[in-house]
Amino acid sequence: MKTVNHRRDIMIREHLLGRDIRDPAVIRAMREVPREAFVADELAAFAYDDHPLDIAEGQTISQPYIVAYMTEALELSPTDRVLEIGTGSGYAAAVLSRIAASVYTVERLEGLARAARQRLEMLGYTNIHGHVGDGTCGWPDHAPYDAIVVTAGAPHVPKALREQLGIGGRLVIPVGASSYLQLLLRVRRIAEQDFRTEELCGVRFVPLIGADGW
Ligand code: SAM
Repeated sequence: MKTVNHRRDIMIREHLLGRDIRDPAVIRAMREVPREAFVADELAAFAYDDHPLDIAEGQTISQPYIVAYMTEALELSPTDRVLEIGTGSGYAAAVLSRIAASVYTVERLEGLARAARQRLEMLGYTNIHGHVGDGTCGWPDHAPYDAIVVTAGAPHVPKALREQLGIGGRLVIPVGASSYLQLLLRVRRIAEQDFRTEELCGVRFVPLIGADGW
């Protein structure tokens, strides 16, 4: 039987390095964070397979490759403050917290947010701050952010997230006309009123539900 370490090694070698993930900080973070601790016990054996897994309330923990890809696309520095929309299991927040200075994460479903907070506390992550609310409004109290990542599919880029992005900041977000099929966008704030958008790849996320979402 393969051990957790062996499965994690396969994930790093085949699903991350074997594809196009290159940033050593991202690889290190993905190696450090125990994905099996973020899923139900009966799914732990599949924690390092390269696909999403069900968490509670009809939501999912994203596939490892997509977590790594989106994290790399944020171009993080160790001093960055990051806003994540869609805490889910807390896994992506944990990965981000290994690279950036602090992570602010917003989840609309209270049960998921509570479970994620307990899990992150138990695992000893101290630079992650959680909030229950509608992430389409961002989390203005701690803005501006150096990077913002949205882990649910939006119909368009929410206005509040553009406003809460600092100058030079990067926003990575799945956007699409269908609530289950999107294009991953990276929006850079060049100046107060100057935003540049790049199209990265096709993705499939659960919908971003809220006042400025679905
Ligand atoms: N990042 C998560 C992880 O690592 O487990 C996976 C996130 S899951 C694909 C998407 C999450 O976005 C769900 O937990 C869902 O409840 C949440 N979500 C959807 N709309 C939201 C909103 N407006 N504000 C905050 N969270 C939202």
